[in-house]
Amino acid sequence: MGESERHDLVVVGAGPAGMTAGMYGVRSGLDTLILEKGISGGLSNEAPEIENYPGFDRIGGMELASKIKEHVSRYVVIRELEKVVAIEASPEGDMVVTSDKDSYRTKAVVLCTGTRHRRLGVKGEDAFLGKGVSYCATCDGFFFKNKPVAVVGGGDSAAREALYLRKLGCMVTLIHRRDKLRAEPYLQQKLEEAGISIRWNSIIKEIRGDKVLRSVIIDTGGVESELAIAGLFVSIGEEPNSELAKEMGVSLDPHGYIITDRSQRTNLKGVYAAGDVTGGVRQVVVACAEGAIAALSAYNDLL
Ligand code: NAP
Repeated sequence: MGESERHDLVVVGAGPAGMTAGMYGVRSGLDTLILEKGISGGLSNEAPEIENYPGFDRIGGMELASKIKEHVSRYVVIRELEKVVAIEASPEGDMVVTSDKDSYRTKAVVLCTGTRHRRLGVKGEDAFLGKGVSYCATCDGFFFKNKPVAVVGGGDSAAREALYLRKLGCMVTLIHRRDKLRAEPYLQQKLEEAGISIRWNSIIKEIRGDKVLRSVIIDTGGVESELAIAGLFVSIGEEPNSELAKEMGVSLDPHGYIITDRSQRTNLKGVYAAGDVTGGVRQVVVACAEGAIAALSAYNDLL
């Protein structure tokens, strides 16, 4: 290839992992570029409140992400709205990163492509997307102020979404498929204090409405009922954005997460991964740590 920009390290994705990897890359002396298909921050932008990132008692996910961006931008360039479509080994021994705008030569790559929301896969989910169905209370909750809504899921995210919506004045019902929540005890206590009602052992069979969502059909142990709501917030976990990694030949675990060693190296030379796309504990502090380790491993391997 003739005129491609050359870098030592290209980071794919500008969530907390990618942004931190970029900063550590530059501070190690590597000519580093971050490419991001959307805007910086990744799914941390959607966290209503983060209370366990050291140094901040309580901070909105978007505020934390923008603080990280402001910090790392002193060191590294983040090109937003530029989607990486392929990464291939070149005959010269480096890699060619192709985006929807350009192509780059690089010696190393850190994949920080994150996760996306898992979908329920029930009738009406697609039809009412943006018309009552949402995957992000921080983004869309405002439209449902003081209205009845339901949140599906039993993990930390579902609990956080439910609490956030309650604060907006929504009448919140939490719908969970088992009789026990996965959410941390601290959040479970908060749910109780907020008076959020929980439909146990319940799954959503169908989402109904006309121009907008009006109700959901719930199956509770074989008994069906209809719950009138204005909004349904689906919060049932995540799936990895690992298609690019798979096409490159990076090893994935049975759930599609990228397998790395403790130094964030994948099975491919010069290819590292960090953050949610590697599975494990899904926390901003972990993503940042993995991003730092990945960049330092790249630096050590390129010495
Ligand atoms: P999660 O922990 O995987 O929980 C997903 C929930 O959705 C589970 O309760 C699961 O039910 C349920 N579920 C999965 N598939 C379903 C389906 N098809 N239909 C109905 N329900 C379904 O996901 P998460 O809550 O997004 O959390 C992911 C990670 O991020 C966790 O490690 C969590 O600790 C972390 N996180 C932490 C915080 C925090 O404040 N500390 C906030 C957000 C996220 P079962 O319980 O029956 O499996």
